[in-house]
Amino acid sequence: MLDLQKTKLAVEQAYQQFSQIPGGANADYIPFLANIPGNLAAVAVVTTRGDVVSAGEAQYRFAIESISKVCTLALLLEDWGSEVVQEKIGAEATGMPFNSVMALDLHGGKPLSPLVNAGAIASTSLVKAHSVEERWQRILLMQRQMGSGQIALSAELNESEQSTNSHNRAIAWLLHSAGYMYCDPMEACDVYTRQCSTLLTTVELATMGATLASGGINPLTKERVLKPENTPRILAEMTMEGLYDSSGDWAYTVGLPGKSGVGGGILAVVPGVMGIAAFAPPLDKVGNSVRGQKMVAAVAKILGFNLYKGA
Ligand code: GLN
Repeated sequence: MLDLQKTKLAVEQAYQQFSQIPGGANADYIPFLANIPGNLAAVAVVTTRGDVVSAGEAQYRFAIESISKVCTLALLLEDWGSEVVQEKIGAEATGMPFNSVMALDLHGGKPLSPLVNAGAIASTSLVKAHSVEERWQRILLMQRQMGSGQIALSAELNESEQSTNSHNRAIAWLLHSAGYMYCDPMEACDVYTRQCSTLLTTVELATMGATLASGGINPLTKERVLKPENTPRILAEMTMEGLYDSSGDWAYTVGLPGKSGVGGGILAVVPGVMGIAAFAPPLDKVGNSVRGQKMVAAVAKILGFNLYKGA
């Protein structure tokens, strides 16, 4: 049983130790993100029992970015089941940057993972919907059900991303030409860009992790939002590609499924126990939050969690 007092101390210690370490830089290929104050930082835990522990600016709303891919994957598994996702998107690491075109080229245009841009754009296109608006609303609803009803689109961030996403548009057309695009490519890219442009707090991100940790029940709303058989698939995909081309290093050093975004957010999941989330904008070269990785890893280490250790 997780000791709440120890968890509070672990979160506090992780924040004190790592929330202001040097290194990294804000993402600047999306203008909105370049302007976020780089010294903001937070760390939060939400347990499967519904306990919430946090330190720092845990109510600050930041850009979800790539972490949205986890929610869209969840929706896809609910819509289609695991075999369709494996066949049409994939369940492998690319070993390449998150927006790599070379990774597509090397595999006949198959994206391999729903957690890189190509796989996420293909995933967005596969969500069951009759219109662009329905596609978007279903994805937003999943973010809200897994995280919180407060999660919403930032019109300013969306505009900033939509006006600079030519690389992702190119990826959408490459997917189309290879037979891995399941709606109009520009509709998929539009909705994918919106799903990256929602804002959430570190506590809401940790809640998403807790929903995955509890086999699909959001511990704060008590609502079952995912079938229990789908959460292990999501966690496996996170292990393989959640931190892009440093997912291997993360598994090796931390030993928990994780997911990061270029907005500075990062999430790790301790199955059966909790979600651990952090936010701090400066990123390393791969696109993962420098301080966020350290804060999440510290909480896991202090509390003794690593999947490969066993119970
Ligand atoms: N919206 C960003 C993009 O598509 C998300 C990337 C990320 O967080 N790694 O480039």
